[in-house]
Amino acid sequence: MDINIEQIRADFPILKEIVYGKPLVYLDNAATTHKPQQVIDAVSEVYLKYNSNIHRGVHHLSNVCTEAHENARVKVQQFINAKHTHEVIFTRGTTESINLLAASFGDTFLQPGDEILVSQLEHHSNIVPWQLLEKRKGIVLKYIPINQAGELILDNIDELINNKTKLVAIAHISNALGTVNPIKTIIDLAHSKNIPVMIDGAQAVQHVQVDVQALNCDFYVFSGHKLYAPTGIGVLYGKEEWLNQMEPYHGGGEMIKTVSFEGTTFNELPFKFEAGTPHYSGSVGLGAAIDYVNTIGINTIAQYEQELLSYASQRLASIPNIRFFGTAAEKASVISFLIGSVHPFDIGTMLDKMGIAVRTGHHCAQPLMQYYQIPGTIRASFALYNTKAEIDKLADATERVAQLFG
Ligand code: PMP
Repeated sequence: MDINIEQIRADFPILKEIVYGKPLVYLDNAATTHKPQQVIDAVSEVYLKYNSNIHRGVHHLSNVCTEAHENARVKVQQFINAKHTHEVIFTRGTTESINLLAASFGDTFLQPGDEILVSQLEHHSNIVPWQLLEKRKGIVLKYIPINQAGELILDNIDELINNKTKLVAIAHISNALGTVNPIKTIIDLAHSKNIPVMIDGAQAVQHVQVDVQALNCDFYVFSGHKLYAPTGIGVLYGKEEWLNQMEPYHGGGEMIKTVSFEGTTFNELPFKFEAGTPHYSGSVGLGAAIDYVNTIGINTIAQYEQELLSYASQRLASIPNIRFFGTAAEKASVISFLIGSVHPFDIGTMLDKMGIAVRTGHHCAQPLMQYYQIPGTIRASFALYNTKAEIDKLADATERVAQLFG
């Protein structure tokens, strides 16, 4: 099926906005995506028609709201093909999912000297929670190095995944470079040594089909807001055998079975990890975003975005003194670049004045920038509503800016 781009663009009201007198060209989708009317309507409907605190309610609205929230969980389960709905834990997003895992997995399983393995291209939210655990628990954080193309070097993986390793935590797709990592190879290798694997799917669920059972990963995390859903909602998928063993993260309402001063017992999955009033308008919005993506088809989206990526790579390549970062064989629709020695912020600011939204800086991946010995990059990242005409605008504007800076 082909993308009906006019129809899709009409679904996203914000794309009609004018910035500095010019039509908005939004190429900052790796940071967050815009929301289709269908998602906005689903969230409005919660507050217009059935807002009420959920679970254990005796009244009508509470039951309707509970059903909508739990329905969204089923949509997530089906979207990533989890075996059970109770393996889907709602969180505030990828960052909270990884912090939850670090705290709970750390408290339950880790001893001083145990190793966690990440990679050199991780987002800070898949580095810092483990560093906090280094401080609290005396564990050791190691990383898989990368090459100039921004691909993981797996030559020494047998030494990196050793008998001290207790968890491998790797991005599915790099937010700064777009590299698609060979996660299946890493998962199989880790499993051959009985080591569980967490995949950071923040940049993946919106671009490629994810099947957690086929991948056989132990944990998979992502954020709703990068998948056309509202902010403040995300997912930690975990195999039930791990989640059942893990200590709870936050304490409070919802996550308990009985409470007394003599001792408290915890609720079953998924509620054990969902303390407090759930973000039910967020989950309903996430469910609507999944419905939206499913109507177009994730594989159709993937194919369309690959076309945008190769068109953009080709258009930008003709700009004098352009340097690309992230030239892996397999990439998602992210392009990171610099022009000569011009600071990325200067180029980003000028592009903004032309109505073009890109992101500049270290993209929350400072160790990666240290590897390339650069302060940051200019990053254009494409979503299902972007067009080749927008990429032409980006390329023409970048060329003009490059000329201005000589
Ligand atoms: N991991 C990756 C790969 C990301 O791209 C991001 C968001 N930039 C995060 C984690 C953190 O996501 P969030 O801010 O939504 O928690």
